[in-house]
Amino acid sequence: MSRIELPNPRPASSEIARDINRRVVLNLIRSRQPISRADLARCSGLQRSTVSLIIEQLIGERWVIEGSTGRLPRGRRPTFLRLNDKRAVIGIDIRPVQTTVALADVNGRFISQEVMATPADPQTAMDELTGRLRHLLHSHSSMMFEGIGISLPGRFDLASQRLVFAPNLKWPDFDLKTPIERATGLEVELENAANACVLAEVWFGQTQGIRNLVVVTVSEGIGTGIFVNGQLARGLNGMAGEFGHVPLDPDGPVCTCGGRGCWEVFASNRAAVRYYLESTSQAGGPSFQDLLVLAEQGDSRAAKALDTMAHYLGRGMRMIVAGLAPELIVVVGELTRSWHRFGPVIEAEVSAQVLAGSAPRVMPAHEGAVARLRGTVALVFQKHFAAS
Ligand SMILES: [Zn+2]
Repeated sequence: MSRIELPNPRPASSEIARDINRRVVLNLIRSRQPISRADLARCSGLQRSTVSLIIEQLIGERWVIEGSTGRLPRGRRPTFLRLNDKRAVIGIDIRPVQTTVALADVNGRFISQEVMATPADPQTAMDELTGRLRHLLHSHSSMMFEGIGISLPGRFDLASQRLVFAPNLKWPDFDLKTPIERATGLEVELENAANACVLAEVWFGQTQGIRNLVVVTVSEGIGTGIFVNGQLARGLNGMAGEFGHVPLDPDGPVCTCGGRGCWEVFASNRAAVRYYLESTSQAGGPSFQDLLVLAEQGDSRAAKALDTMAHYLGRGMRMIVAGLAPELIVVVGELTRSWHRFGPVIEAEVSAQVLAGSAPRVMPAHEGAVARLRGTVALVFQKHFAAS
């Protein structure tokens, strides 16, 4: 009989305690900067001398810098500390159609962003990306680069370090990590886009204190990132969260995964475009962005197509609500630009079938346009800031 393995508590060595304290201090600086040593000691509950030692180390490593001095009625003037915004990360958001390469500082502020068409084969993509990355590193030589975070439209298996499921990208099994690490000398972190968006919400969003959260990314397909009991759920082979490929109708249209009638076939951006085309004899189709604009201009067919998509989105979210009972569902995607149109329909669908208690809140991502990119930044910085 197999047993469930319980976490095995080990006594903390002084080294572990030091590492935890360092993360606590670094996080307090991040969230409350500029902040004095005295306030850090007060907020953290650590001894003033411990805080001073950690700060000395963080200044030495150039994670933290001293800024202005404060004024007090009497006594010594405190020096305020803040994160060194010369610390930077490169974020790459790979989507089936386009790829964005961005440079962000330790506070998650974007310094530059460039967009390229996503090549059909990964080798060409790697060649183009490494060229752009070298240029970016060269043109910002005063920055200290912490690493590269990449978000992918598919599932990435941490154990094998391979992209295991990316039906909308259509790339063969390919090692994305090694060539980029070799070309740049920086460590690369890869993650599914929806999981990266969960990290973005947790790190940069308005979700502090929320321990049960699901992010639904809606674009060419639908992905979900699951944060349960304060942790990202990965599942076997990193495949947790594929609600988009749960069939809602076995006789429905064929999906990119090979199945039929999956949730994403009814509720993705592509689905809305299909609904629109089905209602018109017009040749050539608009893009999803065009549909959003058309609907705002009063085009009733575009509005109807988006409404159908919204209903399916809400209905599919019932699976998530019944299965995971999140406090909050955050939606990421172009649709959040027309949230006044989508939000009420989705919320009505979700709350129409609540088993007990109250329905989760459903809200658009904080700064939706850059949610995926923020995720790539969080991927790298969480290594230093997360309380492990
Ligand atoms: Zn599918």
